[in-house]
Amino acid sequence: MNKAQIFRELGLKAKMDGANCGGEWFASSNDIIEVHSPTTGELLGKITQASAADYAKVMKASQKAFVEFRAMPAPLRGEIVRQVGEALRAKKDALGSLVSLEMGKILTEGLGEVQEMIDICDFAVGQSRFLSGPTLQSERPGHRMMEQWHPLGTVGIISAFNFPVAVWAWNTALAWIAGDTCVWKPSSKTPYCAIACQNIVNEVFKANGLSEGVSAVVVGRGSTIGERLINDKRIPLVSATGSTRMGKRIGEVVGARLGRTILELGGNNALIISEKADMKGALASSFFGAVGTAGQRCTSTRRLIIQEKVYNTFIKKLVGLYEKVNIGDPLDPKTLMGPLIDEGAVEDYENAIKAAQEQGGKVLYGGKVKRAGKNRRRTFVLPTIIEIANKAQIVQDETFAPIVYVMKYKKLDQAIKLHNDVPQGLSSAIYTDSMSEGETFLSYKGSDCGIANVNIGTSGAEIGGAFGGEKETGGGRESGSDAWKAYMRRQTNTLNWGGEVHLAQGVKFDV
Ligand code: NAD
Repeated sequence: MNKAQIFRELGLKAKMDGANCGGEWFASSNDIIEVHSPTTGELLGKITQASAADYAKVMKASQKAFVEFRAMPAPLRGEIVRQVGEALRAKKDALGSLVSLEMGKILTEGLGEVQEMIDICDFAVGQSRFLSGPTLQSERPGHRMMEQWHPLGTVGIISAFNFPVAVWAWNTALAWIAGDTCVWKPSSKTPYCAIACQNIVNEVFKANGLSEGVSAVVVGRGSTIGERLINDKRIPLVSATGSTRMGKRIGEVVGARLGRTILELGGNNALIISEKADMKGALASSFFGAVGTAGQRCTSTRRLIIQEKVYNTFIKKLVGLYEKVNIGDPLDPKTLMGPLIDEGAVEDYENAIKAAQEQGGKVLYGGKVKRAGKNRRRTFVLPTIIEIANKAQIVQDETFAPIVYVMKYKKLDQAIKLHNDVPQGLSSAIYTDSMSEGETFLSYKGSDCGIANVNIGTSGAEIGGAFGGEKETGGGRESGSDAWKAYMRRQTNTLNWGGEVHLAQGVKFDV
């Protein structure tokens, strides 16, 4: 699909306003962002960002809609989410292509991202009939206890550029079945993706007669609209995906008003490759983990910790694969690696390589910006392998680029120590055919991450599991398992059906 087809199919125009709560798009600020293709530099369009007054309008609609939406039975809300999933199926090609066009990931990954949205909708439909709490045993005669889950309110969603549509769906599909309304502040690097998503759900919501405000978008800067949202006491839950720096700020602000957060922040994901590993599998997983999405996934493999006996052979084979990577237009099916999001990201890549060399690292492959055709921006780089010690400062930081740091180990204990010795704790993996090694990695003394895998890589999670990480990754969980609970408020109920008043803990209070 070309740009014109994508725009037509998704209701996008060259000039658009950045705020919407169901009806017309609007924006009253003078803050206009130009959106450029990371691949060609072509101007895709201009978006007027939301002003404080636009934000106020969106919040008013969201709060009003919540009062009605929470009264709708959860399975009927699930039916709406089912229809959202169907609408996404119908627009999968166009939306997946837009992700490639605006963010730069290759088409198969753009389509995969939309599939993830469809999957979470399907998951949420079933979950809408199962927002259940337990029945508990009361210590008082003739009493019963139970838990209920109620809708929470307006959920604020802040998202990063690298998953410009799926992260929103992970949050909204669950928030909507929970009876919440959502206000989304997407990354200003990928506003068209957000506008397209809102256009898709607007059709579904309108057809079902839902009032405006159940789904809302405000395109705006983190420092203005983002700050307004996180400081807003009407928002009980802020789900924020992005850098650890951003998450620390959001955690502090929302924490100070005793609001709740789901923080999905930076990773520093490692794959341990044992001498007992299936080398073919380990190689394929390392390659996709480190090079896929041009290293711009929160779960990208950043470190390979390789047993010394297999180190040299493994690196040689990995370099062999790196040499064959086809870098170019992400919409071309032959391309394996697209551009980085912008020139700033390329600068971060170059600075990281320089720092790694200063800190004792040796570039084994790549390390260079790639020359591209004359229409292209300076956004293409070579995927890079650097041999370096884990303790080097640059290895401790997340660089959002296709750089993988490689290091050797002798014994599994040492590998696990190296593995955990970083500030972040998102995704992790071990390749081994030894059951004992695999189980050790998954045990209390193994990986300290929110996600730990055996014989698959670090990158790419299914929606069925709870997704998120520990330490500086923020501790939030989204998507599958019981992540829905974060979008609801829990209520403990005690009912006296026996008639007699009994105080808990045997307390007597009679005259
Ligand atoms: P970023 O931190 O620059 O921006 C993320 C979002 O936060 C943007 O929408 C931005 O406008 C907003 N923001 C920034 N400051 C804010 C503030 N003070 N108040 C409110 N909002 C604010 O991140 P990015 O460059 O877009 O994305 C890359 C980062 O995201 C990487 O660190 C990556 O690991 C992380 N990420 C994490 C996950 C995860 O699930 N753990 C998923 C995707 C990306």
